[in-house]
Parts: sequence; structure tokens; C-alpha cells
Amino acid sequence: MNSDIFVDRLRDAVGSERVIVDPDIMNSYRADRTTTVQGEMPRVVITPSSTAQIARAVKLANEFEVPVIPQGALSGLAGGADPISGSLVINVAKMDRILDIDPVNLLATVEPGVINKTLKDAVAKEGFFYPPDPGSYTFCSIGGNVSTNAGGLCCVKYGVTADYVSELEIVSPTGEIMTLGRRTKKSSAGYRLAQLFVGSEGTLGVLTKATMRLRHAPAPVAGTVVASFSILEEMGDALREIASKLSPSLLEVMDQETVRAINAWKNLGIDEEAEAVIVAQSDVKGGEGAEELKLIEAICAQSGSGEIYRTEDPDEADALLEARRLALTALERLGPAILDDVGVPVSRIGEMISEIAKIAKKWQITVGTFGHGGDGNLHPTLVLPSRDQEVIEIADRCFADIVAAALSMGGTISGEHGIGLIKRDFMKDQYGTEEIEWMRRIKAALDPKWLFNPNKVVFDRLMP
Ligand SMILES: Cc1cc2nc3c(=O)[nH]c(=O)nc-3n(C[C@H](O)[C@H](O)[C@H](O)COP(=O)(O)OP(=O)(O)OC[C@H]3O[C@@H](n4cnc5c(N)ncnc54)[C@H](O)[C@@H]3O)c2cc1C
Repeated sequence: MNSDIFVDRLRDAVGSERVIVDPDIMNSYRADRTTTVQGEMPRVVITPSSTAQIARAVKLANEFEVPVIPQGALSGLAGGADPISGSLVINVAKMDRILDIDPVNLLATVEPGVINKTLKDAVAKEGFFYPPDPGSYTFCSIGGNVSTNAGGLCCVKYGVTADYVSELEIVSPTGEIMTLGRRTKKSSAGYRLAQLFVGSEGTLGVLTKATMRLRHAPAPVAGTVVASFSILEEMGDALREIASKLSPSLLEVMDQETVRAINAWKNLGIDEEAEAVIVAQSDVKGGEGAEELKLIEAICAQSGSGEIYRTEDPDEADALLEARRLALTALERLGPAILDDVGVPVSRIGEMISEIAKIAKKWQITVGTFGHGGDGNLHPTLVLPSRDQEVIEIADRCFADIVAAALSMGGTISGEHGIGLIKRDFMKDQYGTEEIEWMRRIKAALDPKWLFNPNKVVFDRLMP
């Protein structure tokens, strides 16, 4: 075997048992869950167990000018954790301890590899609530959630990961261990550097410890309403009305293609003649949840819903939500799928779903659209008949049209999955040259050798 001084020094720095160079094993660190992109073979993978090990590894990477790719649980849907050739992958999945739950200050401190559900369950036992709940919450990590500013099903009422970040320990791109943010409830002191790190997708360092805010447990969910609409615009009207008057704890949408895919797989009997379906829940305390659900039903009926179903049975609600969480997998069963993630103002969600249907028709591609209707975040999913090159090219144009439609409505190219590899080319469409230049200057100041996830987000020093 050829000797590699960088790898030898890494073994000294982090321990040989944490260093992987076997290509067969490294292969399993080459891609997240994005189906359209695949990372390249890294030079070496490390699976550290401490911040000090990571700091030593990053200092070495600087000395040898080796690109660094931070990874969590590899559940990402934008290719953000995919390595480039010759890089050092730092996979923190093994740093998975909950370090502290502080019941007075309502904070939990965790290592970055802690799985979202593990944190939720641990704090729930003590009467607290950690709200962000990506559909992947059983297998994604808190470090990945912070790095992508992950959203989820209950964000419509409780906000996204950024709203729960208190204090972050990071290893900077030059190898310093830094603590960003503050454990206080409020702070007006200086720049909010912890928030700068949120959503930075591994381009500004490695997150090694996170102190996340908690809430007191809400009231149990009062029930679940499923309303179906035969006209998309009417569903948009209902969502607008609900958003302006009420505060449901969950407000999801699925279009006909998605419902059909879910029914075909899970046989849940959701109305599949309708063009779109809304699923809503309420957790207002003191019996008012039931009242809020009645108001949601009334709004849906007034907006034109043909069928409204309500259940108080938690098992049935769990099955419905599980089906919604598995919408992507259900669509993937129908053929090669390309998932998009766009956000529009809630006021324009019905219009956006209609626009997606028109774009699908124009390119003759099946698109199943589902997502977090209450916060304007949709996941149009292209289902392809094959992986033939000409099909992929048409799909790429369809995908680009959907992103352009979201931007034309004042939306965003990514609501929660991030930029990674798949949205890089759209960054300038959302931000324009000046804002990108600011991002680039921040990146260059913090990562002067441009080593951290160098091909993602603000991916090119010379980007026009
Ligand atoms: C079925 C399914 C449903 C999903 N539903 C949702 C959803 O509802 N909402 C949502 O937001 N996402 C969803 N996702 C996407 C994904 O789970 C999230 O993006 C999640 O936050 C990624 O976490 P991870 O630990 O897997 O990170 P990875 O995939 O390992 O990494 C994601 C990004 O974060 C960076 N990163 C990871 N850990 C660190 C660290 N410690 N320090 C620095 N950078 C780091 C990586 O470099 C990469 O850029 C879903 C995915 C699947 C497969």
C-alpha cells in the first residue's frame, strides 16, 4: 500500500481505529439520499468521538490543504454531504450523546450525531417538547438539522431549527474550537454568529456540540382533519383563510398523484379523486383544539371541499402522518424520482401547486406534489419513466421551471433541504450578484483556503 503522510498524521491525531481508507467502506460515505447526484471517492474518512480529535484533523487538513466534508446521518436531499475526490470526510454520527437537559432554562445540549427523535423522546420524558420534526426525524441528526436549517411538519406553528438554536460549539475551518451564541433567552450583543452557522451546510466548519431550546409540552393533539378538494385553487383559498385566522399545529398538503401513490402502497383510502388534500391538526390547550378543528372544517367547507373527514383516534392520525412522511418513498416506488423543495409565500400556495401541474403537463412528466402547506413549502417530485439521458434532460428543464415559478412568486429555491449540489446553479437567480458577493466574502474570511465543502452553496470564489 502506498504511504500517505496526511493519513499517517491523521492516525496519530485521531487514533487509527477512527480512520477509514478502505474504498469499499468509504463507498458508504459517498452519498446522501439525493437520487440525482453521487459524491466522489474521498481520500480518507474519519469517525471522531471528540471535538479535540476534530480540531486536530482540521488543522492537519489546513496544513495539507485537503478539502473537508462534514457529514451527519447522510439523510440529506440536496447532495450537501457528498464528498469530492481527494477530500477528508468527517462523519460525526458516532458523537451521539445527550449531554444535558436543563429544565429551568429550557435547553438541551447534545453532540451533533444525536438523532432528532432521540432528543425529542428524551426531553418528552421530562415534560418538554423539541419541535422541529423533519419527515426523516427517526434517522437524521441534530448536527445535520442545524446545518440545513431543517423544517418539518409542525414548523407551521412552532418554527424551524433556526428558532431553537441557542449555543453552538464548532471547529472553525482553520481548526479553532469556538462557541457561538449564548444560553440566555435573549441577547442583543453583536452579530448573531450562531445563526450564521445555521443552514451553512458544512461550508463554515464542523458543528461539534449544540444547545437547543425546548418548550413546555403542548396539549395532546385534539384530532386530525382531512379535507379534499376537486379544484386546486379552492384548496389554496382554504389554506390562505386558515393561515390568516388560525394557528394549527400541522397543516400539510398532498396532490392527487401523491395520494394515489400512498393509497397504492399503504391502502389508506384517502380520497384519490380529489385534486388535493389538506391534513390539519390542532394542539390548543383546554378543549380549544377541538374548537379550532371545527373552524378548520368550516373554512374548508366554505372554500369548496367536497369531503371532510375528522378523527380523534391517535392511531389513525399516526397512520395518516406516517403516510404523509413516506410520500417521497411512495412516489419513488413508481419510478426514478427527482425531489424538489421550493417555498412560496403561503398566500400563493394554491397558485404554485396549479403552476406545478401546468409545468408537468408542458414537459409530459408525472409530478407528485406534497409538503408543508401551512408554511408554503412544497416538494414537487418528478417521477420519470426511465433514466434515459433524454428523459433526464427534460426532467432537468421541468425542475428548473418549477424553481423559476417559485422565484417569480417571491419564493425561495429551497424551503428546508438546502442548496447542496442540486441547487447551486439557482443561487444567483434568488440572490443576485451583490448578496452572493457578501456570502463569498464571509466564506473567504472564515475559510481562507476555501477547504470546507468547497463545491457547495457559495461554491466558486470567482462566481459571477
Ligand atoms: C424521507 C425523508 C424525509 C425528509 N423530510 C425532511 C423534512 O420534512 N424537512 C427537512 O428539513 N428535511 C427533510 N429531509 C432531509 C434531511 O433529513 C435533512 O436535510 C436533515 O437535516 C439532514 O440531516 P443529516 O444528519 O442526515 O445530515 P447530512 O445529510 O449528513 O448532511 C446535511 C448537510 O449538513 C452538513 N452537516 C451535517 N452534519 C454536520 C456537522 N456536524 N457540522 C457541519 N456540517 C454538517 C453536511 O455537510 C451537509 O451539507 C428528509 C429526508 C428524507 C430521506
